[in-house]
Amino acid sequence: MDIIYMDNNATTRVAPEVNEAMMPYLTSEYFNPSSMYEPASGPADAIADARSAIAKLLGGNKPQEVLFTSCATESNNTAIFGTIAANPERRHVITTAVEHPAVYGVAKDLERRGFEVDFLSVDPSGRLDITEFVRVLRPDTLLVSVMHANNETGVVFPVEELSRITKETDPSIVFHTDATQTVGKLPIDLRGAFQHVDLLSFSGHKLHAPKGVGALYVRRGTPCRPYLLGGHQEDGRRAGTENVAFIVGLARALELMLENHDEDEIRIKAMRDRLEHDFTRTIPYLQVNGQGAPRLNNTLNVACHFIEGEGILYQLSNHGICASSGSACTSGSLEPSHILRAMHVPFTAIHGSVRFSLSRYNTEEDVHRVVEIFPTIVENLRRLSPYWNVEAAAPRPDAIKMMESPEATHL
Ligand code: PLP
Repeated sequence: MDIIYMDNNATTRVAPEVNEAMMPYLTSEYFNPSSMYEPASGPADAIADARSAIAKLLGGNKPQEVLFTSCATESNNTAIFGTIAANPERRHVITTAVEHPAVYGVAKDLERRGFEVDFLSVDPSGRLDITEFVRVLRPDTLLVSVMHANNETGVVFPVEELSRITKETDPSIVFHTDATQTVGKLPIDLRGAFQHVDLLSFSGHKLHAPKGVGALYVRRGTPCRPYLLGGHQEDGRRAGTENVAFIVGLARALELMLENHDEDEIRIKAMRDRLEHDFTRTIPYLQVNGQGAPRLNNTLNVACHFIEGEGILYQLSNHGICASSGSACTSGSLEPSHILRAMHVPFTAIHGSVRFSLSRYNTEEDVHRVVEIFPTIVENLRRLSPYWNVEAAAPRPDAIKMMESPEATHL
């Protein structure tokens, strides 16, 4: 059975060109880049070239501003813990209620350590309220960490504006953004619209490089202590022998994303819009999570009332279709994601949320097949759902009212 892969916000296929670029460093060029003998200069130069390429592609000032890590989780932990270690006198942090666990979990940990953390709320379409942001900024704010785009819904936050407001309030507040879902997809110019961003995290495996490599952009002059201690790699800012091949792959992958960016984004958006249009036309009681907000072109998160996302994913998987749900199985019970809960997705729909996320490797045929199969899966599962049967037999005004309220329809 052919696989239809629509889970690109979880991870992406490694591009063949990236494999090709990495291959020498997985075979003949195996030398430790920190070694003194001549053959080690190959890997050392490759890292230097990758660093320059990435800094340039993101509009950074200097290659040294790019720090290689093992993943976006490490980049986020470095950004946050590195900032608090460098600024012991301030103890107030601002983030959002919808961050990826790689920031959300760290922020919760800071609370446990006695930091004051404001988690900005979102409206039912997933948008932040700028006035709330301005209200919570304080003279003793140390760090603002706001993601660029949400991994589950694709909703894009106005990082340019939030970072500008932060620096106008107090230039010493450090601004971090988790751009894991946007690097290579949305324009990022660290000397232009992103000039007020101090720290920016991303990961290779979301942009057709392998898993196990990431980067943290650290603007020159940003107070940020090393998070991993040990050797003197990365100018003493991140210990551990560099993953040369994957670093080369990361730079090549970003180059490729930007090389064909406009054409790819148009094609990806057209495919996503076709899915969205067909689902909303053919499936009753379906809402698009994040509708009405600016969203990534590749992401579609739909909530199907009265059924479980896990059931849908299982059925999709039986047809070779890979997608994901917003639920995480925790301690034996299926908890809806903190992101959808923060958006107040109605209780009849929150468990039935499914995310389709596309990439340049998807085709019209993939979309055609998913559009053919998904509505039938939903219909069949609803036939088995006691909630659906109750609803279909005697619609409950409260449930319907909830779905028709502005909150529900603009999800
Ligand atoms: N941040 C965001 C927004 C993500 O989507 C992800 C992965 O899904 C991460 C961080 C963590 O990335 P990694 O797997 O590279 O640690």
